[in-house]
Amino acid sequence: MKILVINCGSSSLKYQFFDMDSNEVLAKGLCERIGIEGSKLTHEAKGKEKYVVTQPMKNHQVAADLVIKALLDPEYGVITDISEISAVGHRVLHAGQHYSDPVIVNEDVKRVIRECFDLGPLHNPANLTGINACEAAIPGVPQVAIFDTAFHQTMPAKAYLYAIPYEYYEKYNIRRYGFHGTSHSYVSRRLIKVAGLDPNNSKVIVAHLGNGASISAVQNSKCVDTSMGLTPLEGLIMGTRSGDIDPAVIQYIAKKEGKTVDEVISLLNKQSGMLGVSGVSSDFRDVKKAEAEGNYRAKIANEAFEYRVAKYIGAYTAAMNGVDAIAFTAGVGENDHIIRSNVCKYLGYLGLKLDEEKNKEIRAVEAEITTADSKVKVYVIPTNEELAIAMQTLELIQSK
Ligand code: AMP
Repeated sequence: MKILVINCGSSSLKYQFFDMDSNEVLAKGLCERIGIEGSKLTHEAKGKEKYVVTQPMKNHQVAADLVIKALLDPEYGVITDISEISAVGHRVLHAGQHYSDPVIVNEDVKRVIRECFDLGPLHNPANLTGINACEAAIPGVPQVAIFDTAFHQTMPAKAYLYAIPYEYYEKYNIRRYGFHGTSHSYVSRRLIKVAGLDPNNSKVIVAHLGNGASISAVQNSKCVDTSMGLTPLEGLIMGTRSGDIDPAVIQYIAKKEGKTVDEVISLLNKQSGMLGVSGVSSDFRDVKKAEAEGNYRAKIANEAFEYRVAKYIGAYTAAMNGVDAIAFTAGVGENDHIIRSNVCKYLGYLGLKLDEEKNKEIRAVEAEITTADSKVKVYVIPTNEELAIAMQTLELIQSK
């Protein structure tokens, strides 16, 4: 069975096409600059040369048609008939409080995605456009929506409520939702499996540390807390996002700098985090290099990042009254052994003992990095959100 996974942004459409018998990527690609000048499709199929199409794409419909054409192309494609596409899995940002599982798209699902435009103003409209475009390009093929917020819907009220007047939760659904759900779901499942834990009696923490970063507490396979909030701005320090701050900072900057609230929020999303503190870059590799060259701001950016991750792990250990295993994942978590080591240095009180040599060797492969006598096990578990979406899509259509 073959499944197409689509991730739409406001001017982009990313795709991966999987053979689900082998979990292999048969083809992948990106349509960029949709709706603006210079639109381009870059398509790569297994064992074939890269295929680039430069032609105007006035909307996502044109982009989706081009993707299907590329998959069918006699020279660069990987299928001979459209019927080989069994289903399409769409990454969708926000489902509000509506869905805790993947769903087959129908008019109700589209209404929910539309109702959540306010909660995900950049992503949800693009996600819906992508769904509509795929429906038109490959009619009759099941379209499945996999929501970034879904995995976190099991959080209890004490974890998701903000301590603001309750009427705002009732009127506007203002609460913590959490994001990166597909990654937290996939990595926590893998962690429970590789650490030999009981899915129904386990306490694990997943640290998804990439350009966007979030952390979740997963008890008995269910998310009980996560660091991102109403939007992805809350929680850990990220590439360009501040994570947790005192909300009064927003008013203070607005007054001092003559900015609007929207402008300050944009600053907290796009010019803060590692970039804002270090003044070097949002890319952790650049910040690490600058620190090694003696840059003080790069050093405190790294230290603040590690400190915040360790604080959340401490908080989530308390929330679950213990932790059996911790996973590091995403670009930084999978590759940066120094950050992993520095975070773990805060956690010795848990009986966690990092195997420093092993940790140094491990990059982007699944492996344990603690010693045999460590009370808490730590693993590196590469995330694969596209494959996770394809697997959940397959699971859903096979259960129907
Ligand atoms: P992601 O958002 O998961 O793609 O992660 C992107 C981040 O991972 C970027 O800030 C990269 O600098 C970081 N990253 C990727 N490879 C490495 C590496 N070898 N060492 C440190 N950071 C890395």
